[in-house]
Amino acid sequence: MSADVMAEMKWVYTFGGGDSEGEAGMRELLGGKGANLAEMAKLGLPVPPGFTITTEVCNAFYANNRNYPETLTAQVEAALAALEAKVEKSFGDATNPLLVSVRSGARASMPGMMDTVLNLGLNDETAEGLAQLSGDRRFAYDSYRRFIQMYSDVVLGLDHAVFEDILETFKDENDYSLDTDLTAEDWEVIVKEFKEAAARELGRDFPSDPREQLWGAIGAVFSSWMNDRANTYRRLHDIPESWGTAVNVQAMVFGNMGETSATGVAFTRDPSTGDTGYYGEFLVNAQGEDVVAGIRTPQCLTEDMRERMGDPAPSMEQAMPESFAELSRVFDQLERHYRDMQDIEFTVERGRLWMLQTRNGKRTAKAALKIAVDMAEEGLITEEEAVMRVDPAQLDQLLHPTLDPDAPRDVLTSGLPASPGAACGIAVFDADEAESRASHGEKVILVRVETSPEDIHGMHAAEGIVTARGGMTSHAAVVARGMGRPCVSGAGSIKIDYAAKTFTVAGRTVKDGDILTVDGSTGQVLLGAAKMIQPELTGDFATLMGWADKSRRMKVRTNAETPADAKTAVEFGAEGIGLCRTEHMFFEADRIAAVREMILSDSQDGRVTALDKILPMQRDDFAEIFRIMGERPCTIRLLDPPLHEFLPHTAEDVADVAAATGLPAAELLARAADLSESNPMLGHRGCRLGITYPEIYEMQARAIFEAQVIVEKETGVRPVAEVMIPLVATAAELAILKARVAGVASAVAEETGKTPVYLIGTMIELPRAALRAGDIAKDAEFFSFGTNDLTQTTYGLSRDDAGKFLGDYIEAGIFEKDPFVSLDRDGVGDLVQIAAERGRATRDSLKLGICGEHGGDPASIHFCEESGLDYVSCSPYRVPIARLAAAQARLAAKS
Ligand code: PEP
Ligand code: MG
Repeated sequence: MSADVMAEMKWVYTFGGGDSEGEAGMRELLGGKGANLAEMAKLGLPVPPGFTITTEVCNAFYANNRNYPETLTAQVEAALAALEAKVEKSFGDATNPLLVSVRSGARASMPGMMDTVLNLGLNDETAEGLAQLSGDRRFAYDSYRRFIQMYSDVVLGLDHAVFEDILETFKDENDYSLDTDLTAEDWEVIVKEFKEAAARELGRDFPSDPREQLWGAIGAVFSSWMNDRANTYRRLHDIPESWGTAVNVQAMVFGNMGETSATGVAFTRDPSTGDTGYYGEFLVNAQGEDVVAGIRTPQCLTEDMRERMGDPAPSMEQAMPESFAELSRVFDQLERHYRDMQDIEFTVERGRLWMLQTRNGKRTAKAALKIAVDMAEEGLITEEEAVMRVDPAQLDQLLHPTLDPDAPRDVLTSGLPASPGAACGIAVFDADEAESRASHGEKVILVRVETSPEDIHGMHAAEGIVTARGGMTSHAAVVARGMGRPCVSGAGSIKIDYAAKTFTVAGRTVKDGDILTVDGSTGQVLLGAAKMIQPELTGDFATLMGWADKSRRMKVRTNAETPADAKTAVEFGAEGIGLCRTEHMFFEADRIAAVREMILSDSQDGRVTALDKILPMQRDDFAEIFRIMGERPCTIRLLDPPLHEFLPHTAEDVADVAAATGLPAAELLARAADLSESNPMLGHRGCRLGITYPEIYEMQARAIFEAQVIVEKETGVRPVAEVMIPLVATAAELAILKARVAGVASAVAEETGKTPVYLIGTMIELPRAALRAGDIAKDAEFFSFGTNDLTQTTYGLSRDDAGKFLGDYIEAGIFEKDPFVSLDRDGVGDLVQIAAERGRATRDSLKLGICGEHGGDPASIHFCEESGLDYVSCSPYRVPIARLAAAQARLAAKS
């Protein structure tokens, strides 16, 4: 940005007091929080006035060696003056002081990841002014000490334990057990001690100038954009660093001004189940952070929720009926306005309601489905919008098991059902340990007193989470729901001993490494591994999938080679098999001996004899799959891996084969050595086997065609086979193999009197094949992009070894994502599009699909839609995800 442009830029936007300079559509510039505060103020809702410093300032700050644009100070001063005028208070004034909160607010919400400072503007004079103004000394000095604590932690980077120790010692000396036992005078003493401690730690006085405090807090928020927590969160949620955060400076309102004040968070519908009815918690006489921090256990918002939870404390509906009624009106207005479920923060200051935040609420997959379907049925959104509302990746949560309600369970304790689903694993008490044990393949349940943003990596690595403290909106609950991890929060009866790595409950002790089951749908924590059941795919799920199916163009198939996988995939809506890897059938225990006999014979006759033994088994496999798939097309790939993969590996294997074939062990080992390759991935595999050992593919083709005839005779249904030749690099390879396969089809037709329905095509998994697709399409009736190998060969990156350093590449920003998980549009994608174009230029009717792992990845599915592919194929459990992603890709392409 040039200096002239910088000088003209508007860096600060005001809101509240009847109008706003921003609005909801400006979230890129104002961040989610700032844009929605502006919008709410525009709607005439009670929003404490304030101003937003834009995300562009954040970017300019980092681009310019952590310096602000020159014109920022003047713009902040002007906005501050406007704020003072609106609230009729003055910043730093000893008799009528304005206090502000300073909070971050990125474009995408990043709960708890960045920093917040409340009660800013307090010093010895203004605290006295606040005491006079509020008529409540205790409140004023409690606010002041909170400010010193928060500012010291967030802005000055002092250890919060210093302040906690002072408070604890004071309470001990005075025989107090709760913070609420402290009087105004006590807090004054604490404030003095806090300031002295801060000065000792800092080597200078705690800043008393409100303007210095303000700029310190603004700097801390911008700096927090790059802290470790925020970096991890961004990486996990694919949030680009370039988005930056905004800073919101807003007049303080106080939920801690006595019994007629409160603070709370709420959702306009249940974020776990999607049920209609408000859902939330509040705390009387408390400040905002107390609810989320899980320090005090909050009370229910509604009577209905209180009854369901069996909570003895009064609900807000009961305790503050007028504020609750006003809040309900606001909720309805916001939901209608945003046409989505809202997540709201509010404060009641001496009976007056103030809205502090609204945003589209995070929700579980189950809730996302129900809310989307309900809102479409309520006429609030269209069916197509409902399809767009559910994150396909989130569906994963619904496709996994829950606890069998009829199976016995050994319940240790119950807490809050904070994030649904069931998970089982070993108890681990530390986030780092959870991460490291999970990386060694162990399934872990993270058990904590409460979680904080520092635990995020351990929560991600864990199968499930249990906390002793915290409500339904505690950090643990919110983060677990976002990640789709089952979570039980507030299991208050467990007593955790971090040092001993144990917890006790009802006289029982659970040690580190003991197996636990967490049921986040009921809130139960069980000892041992409880029985799970498969999910139901009816109700809202079926309705939304039906709408998705109406919207999509691409078909969705599955990669399956076993009858069980094929059945699951059909239940999940697969419209065919896109890849049946026949080598998996070769590995079965009852046939490996015959396979080894085939490989080890050095004559064609020997191989044919062995293959004759395999033929009936392979035919049975295909017949079983055709029976399940009916008329849905089945792409069956002929043998792909290098033969040496089937050779005996252990001494025991060698002895078995020696016994079965009568060949001496030494000869077997010599043959194995003979077949071994330095670079098997680029070696004698795929169609190269078919070329050099014609009898293998001929046997497989025969097994396919004969199975088709058998099933047709048996059921009257004509199976559709798509015979696929792997790893083709040249048109000649395909021409030769196609002729052989077609020859077998004719022979089978002649022998049986039935003509099998089949196509012959190839995989495109080598760059040369993609480039020469025009030639290859002369013989190919379909292409299936094998993007696992195509990624490997395009990058020259080994599929089996790249994992060792891909993490470093992603960390360094060289790769945005693992290219084996999400298709590299620029390179591999280019080859896919070239092949599609050149192939179709030769053969109009060429069918195009994808069967690499990318076929189940939503971002890659969008690419497939844009590239005009006919279908995607993925593993059975990803079929619903692919159906939804394909619909969204189509709808996005149309709009
Ligand atoms: C591919 O390479 O993308 C593919 C589907 O084949 P395989 O993973 O079996 O090599
Ligand atoms: Mg491959």
